[in-house]
Amino acid sequence: MPGYELWGEEEKKHLNDIIESGILMRYNFESVRNNHWKAKEFEQAIQKRMHVKHVQLTSSGTTALMTALNTVGVGAGDEVILPTFTFVASFEAVLSVGAIPILVDIDETLTMDPKAVEKAISPRTKVIMPVHMCGAMADLSALKELAKKHNLLIIEDACQSFGATYKGKYLGTIGDLGCFSFDFVKTVTCGEGGAVLTNNEDYYVHADQYTDHGHDHIGDNRGAENHPYLGLNYRISELHAAVGLAQFEKLDKILSTQRKNKKALKDALQGIEGLEFRKLPDEAGDNASFLSIFLPNKESARELTRELSSKGIGNAYWFDNNWHYVRKWDHLKLLKTLAPLYKEHKELLPNYANADYSQSDAIMGKTITIPISLLWTDEDLAKKAEIIATSVKKVLAK
Ligand SMILES: *Cc1c(COP(=O)(O)O)cnc(C)c1O
Repeated sequence: MPGYELWGEEEKKHLNDIIESGILMRYNFESVRNNHWKAKEFEQAIQKRMHVKHVQLTSSGTTALMTALNTVGVGAGDEVILPTFTFVASFEAVLSVGAIPILVDIDETLTMDPKAVEKAISPRTKVIMPVHMCGAMADLSALKELAKKHNLLIIEDACQSFGATYKGKYLGTIGDLGCFSFDFVKTVTCGEGGAVLTNNEDYYVHADQYTDHGHDHIGDNRGAENHPYLGLNYRISELHAAVGLAQFEKLDKILSTQRKNKKALKDALQGIEGLEFRKLPDEAGDNASFLSIFLPNKESARELTRELSSKGIGNAYWFDNNWHYVRKWDHLKLLKTLAPLYKEHKELLPNYANADYSQSDAIMGKTITIPISLLWTDEDLAKKAEIIATSVKKVLAK
């Protein structure tokens, strides 16, 4: 699942380059950095592999999303459509720029339902933000069609799906912009970090400048650079980028291991009456960091999560989870903030507490997700597959 499982000599080697030079900053200091540019190198490596024109690293996935929104000029009072199943960072980013998160139902892809998206489009809508949850893709063909028809932008929250593809293209490179997270539990980690990807030159220039206080990055005298507009500091450090670069070199190994391990678990569960799998718009492109299964209902799913946990099998029951599903987002529903809200928020935020998310509830209620480890031996894998299959059959037999 996460790259941290593969921590090793490669990370130490790249880190050591930076520790020896002592230049922890990604910009400038040309004469003393021994030609180490870890952030730049990591950006170029992503760019090359993912066939995308521009990559801007950031301090986190959250700031990548905030940057992407700023990059396209989305702010106060604009609406951004996103799914009820995501990590809180997706709507936090939207709120942070003064925009209005419009939550829509998911379908059995565990990502936004294009029909629900179409219903939610209003004159204020600027962006559709699909979230490619748990390693796999939203129905991007349908969403792109909608975006085109209604003249909207797509910002992919691909934070959980690094290395995954859809119809041969990398997630994060298919919308107008894509965002990745390299936090500690993601497919590839920097410790903390993120990235914004785009094929649009203007968006890239905005992202490059916005993440560094608006610095135009022209010339080699940082203090003399200009500031075409206001920005913030969402820079990644060279230490974090060094880790990411080492991890990135392991991406093929990460993907092939996850895919092998996930397939073994899935094969062991095939054909069990009453059990279904998450629907994947392009199964071959799944990064395979998680296996999600559907039980007949909430009761059987709750029973399975208890059964698996008691047998030491890591699993998530998102319906009861505080961070990833709308049901427990009380801080959003009650608008608990430390500081006063934007005027636009007071006027325009929907009443999330009263919204009908019954379609999402029905799906989340029956979903169990099992994280796929990179460290399982063949023996572990066989044992786990056996325990999971037995547990599922036991729960379904009741
Ligand atoms: C992890 C994550 C983020 C935020 O990334 P951070 O690097 O932790 O800030 C955003 N969206 C989703 C779906 C995530 O899983």
